Amino acid sequence: MTKNLIDPYNKLNILIKYGKGSYVYDQNDKKYLDFVSGVAVLAFGHCHPKLVDTLNKQSLKLWHTSNILRTMENELLAKKIVNRSFANSVFFCNSGAEAVDTGIKMIRKYFKDKNEKNKYRFIVAEQGFHGRTIGAISAGGQEKLIKGFEPVLEGFDKVKFNDISAVENSISENTAAIFIEPIQGEGGIIPASKEYLINLRKLADEKNLLLFFDEVQTGIGRTGDFLSFEWAGIEPDVVAVGKGLGSGFPVGACLAKGNVSSALTVGSHGTTLGGNPLGMAIANKVLDEMDQKFLNNIKKVSSYFLEKLKDTVFKNKDSLNLVRGRGLMLGLKCIVSNKVFQEVLASNGLLTVTAGDNVIRLLPPLTVNKKEIDEAINIINHSVNKMNKNVGFFKHNKEYEKV
Ligand SMILES: *Cc1c(COP(=O)(O)O)cnc(C)c1O
Repeated sequence: MTKNLIDPYNKLNILIKYGKGSYVYDQNDKKYLDFVSGVAVLAFGHCHPKLVDTLNKQSLKLWHTSNILRTMENELLAKKIVNRSFANSVFFCNSGAEAVDTGIKMIRKYFKDKNEKNKYRFIVAEQGFHGRTIGAISAGGQEKLIKGFEPVLEGFDKVKFNDISAVENSISENTAAIFIEPIQGEGGIIPASKEYLINLRKLADEKNLLLFFDEVQTGIGRTGDFLSFEWAGIEPDVVAVGKGLGSGFPVGACLAKGNVSSALTVGSHGTTLGGNPLGMAIANKVLDEMDQKFLNNIKKVSSYFLEKLKDTVFKNKDSLNLVRGRGLMLGLKCIVSNKVFQEVLASNGLLTVTAGDNVIRLLPPLTVNKKEIDEAINIINHSVNKMNKNVGFFKHNKEYEKV
């Protein structure tokens, strides 16, 4: 590890050299099954030949123009997203947090423009996560995100997640929008119930509020639907996406209904690199490859994975509590420490991510196959068994590498 990096991360001490498909390889060519996928980013795994080809071709054609000029890649991607979603228009940026900030700004300006100047507050969820900009941490629901960075933005009212009456009770004349993740990711893979999502839409309509979903982790196929809320049969007004959209290339987007997006008038918002042709070319290819057949396959493969995980939990009740999530966004709530379990899994060749509520996140590439899932299940079972036999071991941090 180097002191030259500003490194506010709890890293695994594995130096990755290269990746292919669902696997990465370290400096000793040790192979790991990668169920981190760059934290739900690598929809098509590592170095997918079609994406490599797209990037190579675009790199010879056009990298960057700024938003002073039009590009085909940019307009084509917007059209594709509009064609397959609730949105009428799209703003492109470089990350999830920027997409979130865009949504917050858009919604505030929408009400200002309508001359409802007192409507600026957002109802957000406890344990919510929306990224690391000052706007995104203000909307976040975890104390650790804002500690030391105060004062944060004014206007975010935190309520219990999945509790419709908590939302209802905190609506005031100043409320502009309800803003949540349809499945809380960093919070511990906690899905909103279908009923909750439907009731949020109803409440927003009744009270003249906008509904804003953070689909940065859940969106772009991760749950087996293009956008995860589709499962509930409702439509929000604004959605932030990121992560999977570029499958490893930095791209974010804020999707909105036309009446809301028109608030972002000339000069009111912008980005230098957002919407650049390299990112757009990749995202275009991602969407082309992610057709209905691809999404159906995610549903099939993920239900296989979920059944196997349920079985694993059932057989290991002393170490594992439960499994939850949808599609290929699954979480194992642990009884043993999730951090220690993550390290044991890694030492046995399976990379995972921790989350809140003592959860291990399993976020394979969306191209994962049954054979790789079987391999992951074997490593999980094997790791739990080893841990059970060495309970004392895991109390002392550094020792588990020997297991
Ligand atoms: C990762 C994430 C973000 C932030 O995305 P960045 O690209 O890291 O800025 C926002 N919201 C959710 C739900 C996320 O999972």
